[in-house]
Amino acid sequence: MLRLHLISSRPPCRPASLLLGLCITLFVAGPALAAGELSLQPEPRGSISPDRQVDIEHLELDLSLELEQGRVAGSATHRVRPLIEGLRQLSFDQVGLRIEQVRLGDQLLTFRLSDEHVHVQLPEGLVSDQSFELRFDYSAEPDNGLHFRLPARNSPDSYPEVWSQGENEDSRYWFPTYDAPRDRFTYEGRYTVAKGLRVVSNGTLVAQEPADRTGYTRWHYRLDGGDLVSYLVMVAVAPYQEWTGTWRDRPLHFYAAGDADEAAVRGLLDRTGAILEFFSDLIGTDYPYEVYRQVLVQRFIYTGMENTAATVLDRGLLGSAEDDAINPWPEAVVAHEAAHQWFGDLLTCRTFRHLWLNEGFATFFTDLWMEHSRGPAFAARKLRQRYATVASQQQRRPSPLVKRFFNGGAEGAAANPYRKGAAVLQMLRVLLGDEVFFRAIRRYVAQWHNGLVQSSDLQRILEQESGLYLDWFFDQWVYMGGSPKLKISHSFDANESRLRIVIRQVQEAKAGIGLFQFPLELEIDGQVERIWIDSKESAIQLEREAAPGYIAVDPRGGLLAEIETQQSAAQWLAQLSSPHPYAVERALQGLRALKGSAREPARQSVHQLLADPLVPIERRLGAAEILSHWRSSEDVDALLSSLARERAGEGSAALRWELVRGLGRVLPREDVLVALEERLARDPLDRIRAAALSSLARLEEERVRPRAIAALRSAVSEDWVVQRRGADALGRWGRVDDLSALAAARRSGSPSVLQNAALWASLQIAEREPVGQRRELARSAFLGDAEAMLHDRNLRTRQTAVSVLSRAGDRGSISALEALAVREDNESLRERVHAAVKAIRTRKDEEPKETDGELKARLKGLEDRIKEMERSVKELGERR
Ligand SMILES: [Zn+2]
Repeated sequence: MLRLHLISSRPPCRPASLLLGLCITLFVAGPALAAGELSLQPEPRGSISPDRQVDIEHLELDLSLELEQGRVAGSATHRVRPLIEGLRQLSFDQVGLRIEQVRLGDQLLTFRLSDEHVHVQLPEGLVSDQSFELRFDYSAEPDNGLHFRLPARNSPDSYPEVWSQGENEDSRYWFPTYDAPRDRFTYEGRYTVAKGLRVVSNGTLVAQEPADRTGYTRWHYRLDGGDLVSYLVMVAVAPYQEWTGTWRDRPLHFYAAGDADEAAVRGLLDRTGAILEFFSDLIGTDYPYEVYRQVLVQRFIYTGMENTAATVLDRGLLGSAEDDAINPWPEAVVAHEAAHQWFGDLLTCRTFRHLWLNEGFATFFTDLWMEHSRGPAFAARKLRQRYATVASQQQRRPSPLVKRFFNGGAEGAAANPYRKGAAVLQMLRVLLGDEVFFRAIRRYVAQWHNGLVQSSDLQRILEQESGLYLDWFFDQWVYMGGSPKLKISHSFDANESRLRIVIRQVQEAKAGIGLFQFPLELEIDGQVERIWIDSKESAIQLEREAAPGYIAVDPRGGLLAEIETQQSAAQWLAQLSSPHPYAVERALQGLRALKGSAREPARQSVHQLLADPLVPIERRLGAAEILSHWRSSEDVDALLSSLARERAGEGSAALRWELVRGLGRVLPREDVLVALEERLARDPLDRIRAAALSSLARLEEERVRPRAIAALRSAVSEDWVVQRRGADALGRWGRVDDLSALAAARRSGSPSVLQNAALWASLQIAEREPVGQRRELARSAFLGDAEAMLHDRNLRTRQTAVSVLSRAGDRGSISALEALAVREDNESLRERVHAAVKAIRTRKDEEPKETDGELKARLKGLEDRIKEMERSVKELGERR
């Protein structure tokens, strides 16, 4: 699955049915241990993966879907094999299903419903090697699992639709099953819907025939040649248009309803074939299913979901074909969900604790595709950003990818399985080398296809293929948190002909994690050396004739760490010629970080990089970024003249975008404001107009406010990006009167990305009001909207609402938050809800205090700029 803002989650704690027929629930209030008492415990039994009594072999759904009523009715038939001799009772997961009868063949069985289960009494004489068929007849109006979308007044939906979302454990809302990824079964589905609607589901469309009811059609799908787990069962229904293509001899289908940009759909469809080819080659196992379907749906709660052979994507993802250059996101999402067809679907994590084996792989393989599709410099930039984000998160809050031990529920959440998972795989790739690493991955897939995996399965195969013993690696990077922070310096002694390199680990020891041990690569004038680091300070001496042109630390991007290297401008410039794209990317960052007069020897070279159309685009982007951070008046001149050249239409949209964003970091000069206003008014790309508005908002108040309101009210833009930046700008500069301009965007039914931006902006406006009645009045305009958003199915929306309420909520908000804490599945969000309730209880608004963080930050920013300006003026003086 792909979420916009990614937070790891684990299934909710729920009662485990411990013994046959008995459902015992222990209610424990709060952590089992007193605060401060530390005791590691194993995973609480049943909380992550419940025990099962049968093996489901086959699932057959035969359902009618009534879109207007939001109703599903029909039957679910499971062919199951008992795992226990003399099995007399079976419990399946279900929530809110009206089960009318349960049958074994012709025999009606006794059953009992509890809140989250159905318990079925089985006849005597069942033996463990004989399967039988269990049929449930039921109906439901699910408020989860199946999501209905209907056009109505004030609804953003433009056609009737229903789509399913099973991960993590929401299939139980629309069919009874063992709803954990520990049971694989084959699948077929028959769906009866009104004529004119199209059904999409997993696998091959076997038949499409008139149903018994007139005006209805029955669609029959079957997943051939593979099996799946419950969260990957999928259905979507709407008046879809269908586009088709092929990969090798297999059909590719793409579905969208309403007005979809034909060229953009074709672009994604063509890319899908290339992506499947690339992955099939690299993974050594061909794309595993007969057919691949991708369907764009309205208001999806994530960005994409990799149901087996039938991916769901959010409709907001489909941009225009022109947007492609500056927005690689749609392509990346298509690649991510395609990679999941192997990692997640063909091989599924055995419990969600090992979710990185799904998400880390999907993210990492997306990186590999993007490297192939957009070039190594693009990939290097992305990798540098990924390492920087994960390393700083791990410094702040060390968290393991896989939690092995638990601390009575009081421990923190696991690490982000997407980013940290991908970072760990990249480290393994560099450690083992491409040949061995990919050989091991190929064997891992071949060995575990149509199976369930956990981290040790991967470790075992990596060890077998490489000959390395990898406990040190898996312990540090998978089962423990944190990451190293390195300071590296080097000096050359000409008299002694000796090069000395000093490497220090300077990370703060947190959560019992102190020093790291790892191999570190150093590229010295093109030659890569690998050294083993395991102490706080390591020094190396090398005999050399002359000083090296540069030393590139970790040139191939093999270490998740924060690395600070001390080098001169000339050495960083020399590093730009490294054969390793990652070392080049690091050199651009090294230049950017130079301070004061240390920049001077490089300034002209960086200007030339930006101006030269023959320089590869990523380096020009890097140069624009450097100059926007240096921002002397001649740097700003260079940015402006580059923008003037680029706007002709023949230039690079990516560079235009970078320049517009960079100009938001410089001092507010009249010519900068005019250039940004011109881009806001005229640029053909929504994302560049949105960036121009953001940059203006960082520089100017009076001129941006009316433009922000106009943006908020303008026609639809790609992914609502112009409207969102309008809301952000109002958050920065808006006044109480502007709260009403944000009202429509804040309400439920508004696209969730816009809703979140509007709620944040409203909060920021209220926080600028003086403490007391005026602030209370401003808050009252949006508190109700925020509380309503706590019920939203979109995780990001709930996160936003919780954050806003923790700062603005009143006593009345507490009960709404407490109710969310009970029903929320996401571990991190539950923690934030508790913190929010505490924040509201302890807030003392009566005391006038500086709560306006934004204002402080702005003040700090202005002070920094003044200092920066003084420095520039001084430097200019020195040079004259
Ligand atoms: Zn995913």
